[in-house]
Amino acid sequence: MASQEIENLASALARLPGLGPRSARRAVLWLVKHRETALKQVLDALGAVQDKLVECETCGNVDTQNPCSICADPRRDAKSICVVEDVADLWALDRARLFTGRYHVLGGRLSALDGVRPEDLAIDSLLGRVAEGGVDEVVLAMNATLEGQTTAHYIAERLEGFPLRITQLAHGLPVGGELDYLDEGTLAQALRARRPLG
Ligand SMILES: [Zn+2]
Repeated sequence: MASQEIENLASALARLPGLGPRSARRAVLWLVKHRETALKQVLDALGAVQDKLVECETCGNVDTQNPCSICADPRRDAKSICVVEDVADLWALDRARLFTGRYHVLGGRLSALDGVRPEDLAIDSLLGRVAEGGVDEVVLAMNATLEGQTTAHYIAERLEGFPLRITQLAHGLPVGGELDYLDEGTLAQALRARRPLG
């Protein structure tokens, strides 16, 4: 029988994606066992993240600096912007290490069902970035869901009239597939084979 504090920690950890009550309990036991070394490391790392986490005002990425480390990196190609639904998608694509441009996080997808309208997403700020000039490709990397594709087409319409190429991730992405569940090879392939939005 564990104390209330240990129970609380286990139930907090059990809410993390990929963990369940069982794994959470094992993680807690491990932390308790290694409290002198690992527990302190975990606490320090969590504390540092909590103190420093900010949303990038340019792209919507979450990082410990604003502009984020991608927007601030002069080696990233500012001519190419990859639009994603969520920060998780940005991280997944960036792990694939094939896209050398910058990103724009919408903060969701259009959804009549959930009442998500264009003004609820970071679409105006995307248009603002494009209107500043210097962008010659926008890659629409929405999820291969109905709502993701509706969002992609809506954004493509809003971008009409700007002198740029609008591409989207290649098909071959599983239908209904969420980007951050895909392995890096699949993502890299979808990026490499990106094609004009039709
Ligand atoms: Zn950024």
